[in-house]
Amino acid sequence: MSEPSIFTRILEGEVPSEIIAETENAFAIRDIHPQAPVHLLVIPKSEEYRNVVELAAGDPELLAELIGLASSLATEHGGGDFRLVFNTGPNAGQTVFHVHAHVLAGELEEKTLGA
Ligand code: 5GP
Repeated sequence: MSEPSIFTRILEGEVPSEIIAETENAFAIRDIHPQAPVHLLVIPKSEEYRNVVELAAGDPELLAELIGLASSLATEHGGGDFRLVFNTGPNAGQTVFHVHAHVLAGELEEKTLGA
């Protein structure tokens, strides 16, 4: 068994981070290194899927649940519009291999493509 991901450790309360929203199968936290006025992470409670391609193939309903949670958080914390980023693979900047969506909102600069 590999070590639990940082997000699993946060969900289990081993690493401090406020869980700002939760659904049956997903939860959200603030990114520790924000790249935008609003920068949240929406994460499945299970770390079964390493990236969004695996998630879409394995559980499209859970992917839809993540997007629904992202949308309501963007309404609650930003103006409603948002950018959703799934870094997929180390060469694209993915550092945590427990699938998660970056929710970027607020006054976004045109060129803030990634997170
Ligand atoms: P990735 O680089 O895999 O797309 O995104 C991982 C994100 O998790 C990064 O933006 C990073 O700042 C965030 N992150 C890593 N460790 C922690 C942590 O302990 N707490 C929080 N809130 N965010 C974290």
